[in-house]
Amino acid sequence: MTCPLCKLENPGSARVCDCGYSFATGAAPSVAASTTANALLRSMDRSLRAIKFVVVAWAVLTLIGLLAWLLRDGPAATSPQPARAAQEK
Ligand SMILES: [Zn+2]
Repeated sequence: MTCPLCKLENPGSARVCDCGYSFATGAAPSVAASTTANALLRSMDRSLRAIKFVVVAWAVLTLIGLLAWLLRDGPAATSPQPARAAQEK
């Protein structure tokens, strides 16, 4: 049978379409689907917050690492490096 809502062809034994439409009652998904959508939005919001946290943490760690690298290699970069001179021979 074909779902009147999403036009998806479902097997005859299916009682509920993938979109949530109930063939048994002929009821469109109202509460259940909206709840699912809200839960999905909430989980997406949580994921976005987690992604933002990871990005911020990564940026901070990169800045700290860059500062440490600059402080460590700063003085050495101004002085001549024998290893590089040997490679350019
Ligand atoms: Zn459907």
